[in-house]
Amino acid sequence: MIEITRLTKRYGGKTAVDDVSFAVRPGRVTGFLGPNGAGKSTTLRVLLGLDHPDGGTALIGGRRYRDLRHPLRTVGALLDGAGPVPERRGADHLTWIAQSNRIPRRRVREVLELVGLTDAAGRRVKGYSLGMGQRLGIAAALLGDPEVLVLDEPVNGLDPDGIRRVRNLLRGYAASGRTVLLSSHLMTEMAGTADDAVVIAGGRIVARGTLDDVSAGHPSLESAFFALTGDREGEGRW
Ligand code: ADP
Repeated sequence: MIEITRLTKRYGGKTAVDDVSFAVRPGRVTGFLGPNGAGKSTTLRVLLGLDHPDGGTALIGGRRYRDLRHPLRTVGALLDGAGPVPERRGADHLTWIAQSNRIPRRRVREVLELVGLTDAAGRRVKGYSLGMGQRLGIAAALLGDPEVLVLDEPVNGLDPDGIRRVRNLLRGYAASGRTVLLSSHLMTEMAGTADDAVVIAGGRIVARGTLDDVSAGHPSLESAFFALTGDREGEGRW
């Protein structure tokens, strides 16, 4: 469903993503794992048409994002820094996106319920916690009931209830045959959520396969991650 082929992206003299290839299958949750600065967001930004690659392709269902006929109904995305207007109320933010994409208004209530934000829907976004903002972003990604979900660090800032809710949601989404790609630098959350893993470090893919494949020969997914990525700083965090 998602196919990244020989993708390269440079910023000035720096190669952020270096000849990266991987595919993401439907019916599975795929974790895109790597330490900060590894190239995860850059890859996802190119996939979602927000950046032009210097080489290679990033396709969704065989098309570039900008060639999709109904982008929001095909791909739901959560990216860093794509926040709503702070003065706006949560529900109004979603209604605005729904209306500009011909999505029925009742879907706004559904997605608010799905992410557990119904009670806060009438409050202004500027009063939201980091976790509530994340939930609103995930709700927006779900609005078009898309075939593909692409979420950059979706559990950032979420409390344990939020993490469990998002995890169940993503598992259910994949179980219904859809495609889920989520990036993270947090291994512990990913161990209970993802089926497959693509590990990136320094702009290059260092491992990919099922979570079991990737952690084979290591005592845990975390230690596999540190061994593969050389994330010494990360080691200290745990
Ligand atoms: P990750 O999402 O894995 O934390 P990023 O894709 O954000 O990593 O960043 C990969 C590398 O590219 C980093 O070294 C980062 O500093 C650099 N980078 C990302 N975006 C830009 C940009 N707009 N301009 C310059 N450098 C960038």
